Amino acid sequence: MLSETGDVAIPRRGLLLALSSPSGAGKTTLAKRLLASDEDIVMSVSATTRPMRPGEVDGKDYFFLTPDAFEEQIAEGAFLEYARVFGNIYGTPRAPVDEAIEAGRDVLFDVDWQGVQQLRQAARDDLASVFILPPSIEALEQRLRSRGQDSDEVIASRMAQARDEISHWAEYDYVIVNDDLDASEHKINAILASERLRRSRQTGLTDFVRGLA
Ligand code: ADP
Ligand code: 5GP
Repeated sequence: MLSETGDVAIPRRGLLLALSSPSGAGKTTLAKRLLASDEDIVMSVSATTRPMRPGEVDGKDYFFLTPDAFEEQIAEGAFLEYARVFGNIYGTPRAPVDEAIEAGRDVLFDVDWQGVQQLRQAARDDLASVFILPPSIEALEQRLRSRGQDSDEVIASRMAQARDEISHWAEYDYVIVNDDLDASEHKINAILASERLRRSRQTGLTDFVRGLA
């Protein structure tokens, strides 16, 4: 079976791609570029009990649930992972992830190191994790300032948190120093391309090879 581009289409299992970084290193920018350039990967939408903020859209930013509905869904095993943060609950709905993976599509996660640990427990070999580092501490602070979203106080607290987040770099499968944005985007694309080619993910190989005999 040859496609128009000459590629043989071998069915594959999708993967979970987790991106982490200290705030300001460029994770959101890189995630947006990846989602815009690759139609086989979608962002995971979490559920939360926290109130919706102005401008947020239910089903896009989060699925907003009541505490009772959230607890009920926890009891039903509806979450791949969840965490209680500042009196609210946040979690990753399991069904959309399972459906995507079975259909050979990938799911992108924007999570901190604790979220990655939980995803690793839940998803094991389906997970590939990438840590994004800034080229220097000065560049990190400069990016936080140039983003223009935070006060001096918030920036100082993000810089303190950044050192803690960075200390978990060695728990990741891949590390990218985000100096040049285009180069970093190419690196993420390369990671995704090779993770998709893992033999274990090419579920159609057995049939394909049988057909060669
Ligand atoms: P994060 O999601 O990790 O908090 P963002 O993606 O919001 O970070 O990036 C923080 C700021 O740094 C943004 O203003 C973004 O445009 C900028 N930025 C991201 N990557 C680079 C880069 N490689 N070079 C220069 N500026 C960058
Ligand atoms: P916020 O309320 O600002 O959108 O998010 C607060 C915190 O919840 C952030 O630290 C974010 O990483 C965390 N969070 C968001 N979604 C999830 C999720 O699905 N699972 C877990 N464990 N944490 C999440």
